[in-house]
Amino acid sequence: MRRILVMILVAAAGFLLFATLSPAKPDKMDGVNVPFGRVPQEIRNNRYPRTYFPGTEKLAPDEMRIVALGTGMPNQSPSNVAACFLVELGNGESFLFDMGTGSSDRLAGLEGDYSRQDKVFISHLHTDHAGDIAALWVAGWLNGRYEPLHVYGPSGSAPELGTKFHVDHIRDAWTWDVTSRAGTLPNAGGEIVAHEFDYSKTAVIYEENGVTVTSFPAIHIRDGSVSFRLEWNGLSFVFGGDSVPNKWFAKEAVDADVVVHECFFTPEHWMEISGFPYKQAYWVTSQIHTPPEAFGKLMSMVKPRMAVAYHYWNHRDVEFEIFEGVRKTYDGPLTMADDLTVLNVTKDHIEVREVTFNHDSWPQGTSVEWDTAPRGEPATGLMTDWLKEGALEGLNPPPKQPID
Ligand SMILES: [Zn+2]
Ligand SMILES: [Zn+2]
Repeated sequence: MRRILVMILVAAAGFLLFATLSPAKPDKMDGVNVPFGRVPQEIRNNRYPRTYFPGTEKLAPDEMRIVALGTGMPNQSPSNVAACFLVELGNGESFLFDMGTGSSDRLAGLEGDYSRQDKVFISHLHTDHAGDIAALWVAGWLNGRYEPLHVYGPSGSAPELGTKFHVDHIRDAWTWDVTSRAGTLPNAGGEIVAHEFDYSKTAVIYEENGVTVTSFPAIHIRDGSVSFRLEWNGLSFVFGGDSVPNKWFAKEAVDADVVVHECFFTPEHWMEISGFPYKQAYWVTSQIHTPPEAFGKLMSMVKPRMAVAYHYWNHRDVEFEIFEGVRKTYDGPLTMADDLTVLNVTKDHIEVREVTFNHDSWPQGTSVEWDTAPRGEPATGLMTDWLKEGALEGLNPPPKQPID
């Protein structure tokens, strides 16, 4: 009896140890991270589970999945972090549109494969659209990206107002951080590459593996804001950053499957929420942004299969009024996006749900490719001797495995 008890205890301890250690190396199935002990399911006949639990559903070869990671404002709320939409395709590719402040936390909750999060398309260089680029760059590198992070973004009216200048200065600003990690991590993953394109042109700025991304001008305070249209396999996703309704969007978004556009507060909301005087509230809401009725008018012009509104707080005291504002001018399919709204898109169906979010997500660990990617030695020569000599000897345990 005692022997059986001991065996059960040993087995339980072994399982616990395995379960505790397993998050650092998630199960992989068809190249996708899968939660421990789960098998991703194919979705048949559009019978999706009530919510989307990341890593448990197989994306069909002809399917697009769009996750609203951030839908809020530059002055943040924990309920709505700043702009970011993740687009995943049935061919295995991932695209991030904007990387606003706080959105990298939401991305971590998806517990995905960071080696795929290697390209981000930036609509303009406000913090609520670009504030987490550095966080994605470094966190993705630690979490499995072994290739450079590619940032596609617009030029401005002068070199210092363009994406290349911004990215070059992110690299410079984080010199202390990145040079201290270099060597421990794969060399190439520590690189960040800017792909700056002309903000004033409607042009294809990305074309690979059957995916094209077109950029076109947007009207938002100053030169250098754009919107994007992604086309793949007969499906289209249009993403507007910030803009007043404009003729380029009205043309390029026509008949797209999913059209995401900002839907800002009214001047009256903004006065009430932020305490701005009317003049400034009107400027912000209606001369550099798109208030609800205008969003509705624009969607009535472009007629998407699904219109997606974002860029406000989904607080109950305003969200219904925003919805009603849109409905005065648009009666088509509409999603008022919240953080972690997910849309699955095929040619015959669009499913809108919420993500069941893992607030206790683990780092996503690495892969054989990450483990074996070229790297140097850990950075040991970055401290002066007097500082090093201040370490208290014998407190940290010595290595238990050979490290030379
Ligand atoms: Zn914005
Ligand atoms: Zn903006």
